[in-house]
Amino acid sequence: MALIVQKYGGTSVADADRIKDVARRIAATRDEGNQVVVVISAMGDTTDRLIELAYQMAREPSERELDVLLSTGEIVSSTLLAMTLRDMGYAAISLSGAQAGIHTDSAHSRARILEVESKRVIKELETGNIVIVAGFQGVTGEMDVTTLGRGGSDTTAVALAASLGAEVCQKYTDVEGIYTADPRLVPEARLLSDIGYEEMLEMAGYGARVVHLRAVELGELYNIPILVASSFTQKPGTLIHGGASMEVRNKVTGIAHDLDIAKITVVGVPDRPGIAAAIFQPLAKAGINVDTVVQNASIDGVTDLTFTMAKRDLSEAMRVIEPIAKLIKARECISDSRVGKVSVIGTGIQSHPGYAARMFTALSERGVNIQMISTSEIRITCIIEEAGVEDAVRALHRAFELETGE
Ligand code: ASP
Ligand code: MG
Repeated sequence: MALIVQKYGGTSVADADRIKDVARRIAATRDEGNQVVVVISAMGDTTDRLIELAYQMAREPSERELDVLLSTGEIVSSTLLAMTLRDMGYAAISLSGAQAGIHTDSAHSRARILEVESKRVIKELETGNIVIVAGFQGVTGEMDVTTLGRGGSDTTAVALAASLGAEVCQKYTDVEGIYTADPRLVPEARLLSDIGYEEMLEMAGYGARVVHLRAVELGELYNIPILVASSFTQKPGTLIHGGASMEVRNKVTGIAHDLDIAKITVVGVPDRPGIAAAIFQPLAKAGINVDTVVQNASIDGVTDLTFTMAKRDLSEAMRVIEPIAKLIKARECISDSRVGKVSVIGTGIQSHPGYAARMFTALSERGVNIQMISTSEIRITCIIEEAGVEDAVRALHRAFELETGE
């Protein structure tokens, strides 16, 4: 007998029939002799609709009220699911985030889990119940309801799995798992049977749509394997875990891309100690997450500094950086929002110097100009013109022969 945490997303519980279908899956897991904790999202687009409603009532809805409102979406689905299971003859109970002991800080709409006090969940499991927990929500020390940020039910599920010492956290969704590249872009992308936490985190743009990256980070921290699979089929899905053997993993795993980036170049920066700090400290203070940074070798004591960030942060970043550029006597600041990012990802990259060359060759054959390059142990990233990103992803997928075999 194992303890399994299952998480079902909004599309998996979109209507009564889907909820019954999910209940049958949960029942089957129970019938195999497992203890089951289920974390559930709100039905379909409930959360979006509740947000719309709130903004019809007030230009700036109170964050506290908004969190209580949004938390009701998951309450609805969790109670309906518990009723369904009971009607099928299974012992089941629904718990709100607060009842399940999900304690968070008080940052409404983006709260962080501080502690999971799993006493109640354990008690219910011991009495033989399937425990259905409303995802995406928690409670502050003052007993105010919080939500964990959009897509936050994944985080609830992994946090519960960690605190209960579950064998695995199974995330059921409307895709069959993690592919070697975004299958909407690359039709021949292949479903991966498994992927390491680090690689999964590097799958950034595409990966984040499949599993909330905060949940993957948490999984890595507590070493909880996360299975991503479809609730619409019986296919085995992709296991995200940390125990990959070097030999099997010694290769390229996938191609990631991100269209949501912009870049700023500070031109003619005097090359002396403290300059980078002078530029990046105020950006950090403004809450702007700087991604790839490249500084050119300096000529005659001046250099260019280029960095990227999310597109939505570009105007704020320029507002912060322009006065600083003047102050440090840089020549000018140039921004460009028509850029994108492609990355080759895999644990084999470090030990295969040939991979970088293969990536650059594949891009040049497609006439793609590389604007910036950055690397880590498991990733080579190129910043290129936005319009070329999709073609580049397909070309790289071919160049690394990702459509064939594990
Ligand atoms: N219902 C919330 C949302 O749509 C949380 C979740 O689905 O994970 O963002
Ligand atoms: Mg949702």
